[in-house]
Amino acid sequence: MSNLEKDPTETVAVAEPPHDGVEILEPREVPLGGPRALPVRRTLPQRARSLVGAWCFVDSYGPVPGDRAGTMDVPPHPHTGLQTVSWLYAGEIEHRDSAGSHALVEPGQVNLMTAGAGIQHSEVSTGAARELHGVQLWVALPDRSRHVAPFFESFSPQPFTVGDATLRVFIGELAGARSPVSAFTGLVGAQIDLPAGGVVELAVDETHEHGFVVDAGEPRLQGVPIPGDRLGVVPAGPGILRLEAGDRDVRGLLIGGEPLGEPIVMWWNFVGRSHDEVVAFREQWQSQVIAGADPDGRFGHVDGYPGAALPAPVLPNVRLQPRS
Ligand code: MN
Repeated sequence: MSNLEKDPTETVAVAEPPHDGVEILEPREVPLGGPRALPVRRTLPQRARSLVGAWCFVDSYGPVPGDRAGTMDVPPHPHTGLQTVSWLYAGEIEHRDSAGSHALVEPGQVNLMTAGAGIQHSEVSTGAARELHGVQLWVALPDRSRHVAPFFESFSPQPFTVGDATLRVFIGELAGARSPVSAFTGLVGAQIDLPAGGVVELAVDETHEHGFVVDAGEPRLQGVPIPGDRLGVVPAGPGILRLEAGDRDVRGLLIGGEPLGEPIVMWWNFVGRSHDEVVAFREQWQSQVIAGADPDGRFGHVDGYPGAALPAPVLPNVRLQPRS
């Protein structure tokens, strides 16, 4: 999922100025996929901020009710230099990839695809559930790890409580819990549920950046209200994150980690380090897969998807610029 329709640097969404050091990133709506496109709310990347730790992409979608739950249908498309993290609140997605994985993504279970040197995958919501509701995120791989062979992992974290909150740590480490899935930089990703009136304080590494992707309610993060669908970002500094629910139940994702510290070039589904490298990834996708010249090339092949792979869009007429 989560094909960037355009160069993410073209985003028009604007970040509000920091409130007491907390940045509030507004979502912009982007149609995902074809004629029955699923609208997604993209909070990262933005002109004002490209990364939170190594997290470089956040798309929230749904709840899409009833008969629209089958509307995610993303044909095989490539990725490089990143991990895709799929997290569902509701629904079911069928995942197929060129590392040979065929999996059903279920609520409360992280599905992590490490693209490394190159992979392709398809994602189709099954309509088996009453609604579709979730988030897809990407993590940029550091230069030392971005050429690893691709692989797929899944994990269902055990929920536990801290203060008034229920935590599900799906990647990295938080509050003494550690996810076994692969992280290549210091990272955290966790669902946090906080009932109305509840408060939680979490000890975090003060050199790390953190964000909270609000799904439900309007929490205060470090005392600053974060409205629905926003991404509240706390830059490196505090050793404690304080989340308060206010008068409604809160649900959302805490993301964070050590700053990547490397400029990345991000275009369509590729993360690279230079314009020329991304152009080469695009050319290889078009020739090896779309034109069928080398089904065992960089991106391999996906079995079982009933349709053709997704051609890459045309490159913009300007050189892709590194972002950090
Ligand atoms: Mn994808």
